[in-house]
Amino acid sequence: MTDIATNLINVKKKIAAAAASEGRKANSVELVAVSKGQESEKVRAAIIAGHRAFGENRVQEAKNKFGPLRGLCTDIELHLIGPLQTNKAEEAVKLFDVIETLDRPRLAEALSKAIQKTGRTLKFYVQVNIGNEEQKAGVALDQLDTFLSFCRKSCGLKIEGLMCIPPHKADPRPYFLQMKDLNNQYKFSHLSMGMSDDYEIAVRCGATAVRVGTAVFGKREVRG
Ligand SMILES: *Cc1c(COP(=O)(O)O)cnc(C)c1O
Repeated sequence: MTDIATNLINVKKKIAAAAASEGRKANSVELVAVSKGQESEKVRAAIIAGHRAFGENRVQEAKNKFGPLRGLCTDIELHLIGPLQTNKAEEAVKLFDVIETLDRPRLAEALSKAIQKTGRTLKFYVQVNIGNEEQKAGVALDQLDTFLSFCRKSCGLKIEGLMCIPPHKADPRPYFLQMKDLNNQYKFSHLSMGMSDDYEIAVRCGATAVRVGTAVFGKREVRG
């Protein structure tokens, strides 16, 4: 089995070095360990190693895995990093601490209702389709301003950050830098970008959170 404690240490060292190269402190970057498609034994190993922030991309999988784990460890911080269906908004609000993939008005409305109903407080980031890709989730750049106002004014949602997944196989730098500019423009304190292949670059470009799966947990299980 992959030594998860060692992987966590190594990833954190690289994050610290990348942050230092930009004159930033290591603790200005949060490592979100992406546990989608991984057995809960591995998550448990990460928890024992002291890790607390995890990312999942499906509500049901997250519920099955983290329900029992949360009984053992009360300060887990769970991030939703995958697309959310409107009819699962309430379940998501009950389960997650950060929803990183808010990307459309109907979802904002559903989340706003779910918050009123449950009384939960959680953080929201807006996902930006930074590469303007047809098939990709996220708010189009030219819609971002309108969407952020809608979230704030019509839904009463406080947006605290932005998130992106740049186009596959392209050099992510220009996209990351554009995201950093946007984040500065809106004065958000969270910027989630970078995965196993490019998290050091993302940190050098200003990420405050990186979402790292395989570099922490090893290859994901195949699932049907
Ligand atoms: C799966 C996933 C990750 C982690 O990917 P790795 O390459 O395993 O690090 C990060 N972000 C999102 C949105 C994902 O879906």
